[in-house]
Amino acid sequence: MHEASIASRIITIVESELASRGVTAPVEKIRLRAGKLNAIVPDSLSFHFDVQKRDKPQLAETVLEVLESPIIAVCEGCGREARLDAPLFICETCSGTLTPKSGTELLVESISVRD
Ligand SMILES: [Zn+2]
Repeated sequence: MHEASIASRIITIVESELASRGVTAPVEKIRLRAGKLNAIVPDSLSFHFDVQKRDKPQLAETVLEVLESPIIAVCEGCGREARLDAPLFICETCSGTLTPKSGTELLVESISVRD
């Protein structure tokens, strides 16, 4: 469900971007940057994207590439920077609270259109 609504948002963003630039050529690839804190399952997102793109002639052959960014957080107590595999925001050194610095982003990074 989460991935279905994200797929729909990506399509809306890409369509409005293409419309504002007057691009009518087919889209070959969309590159999405997704921070791990969004908890997106790339396979699930690709599945929903493939289902939803069927109604969109310009996106019929588009490949969605998902680039995951790691969660990087900084400790408020000791200043230690940590790369987290899971969203557990407790410092290993001082048990202080970690504040996320990256990993929350969700954006369309590039759109490749056929020449
Ligand atoms: Zn700390």
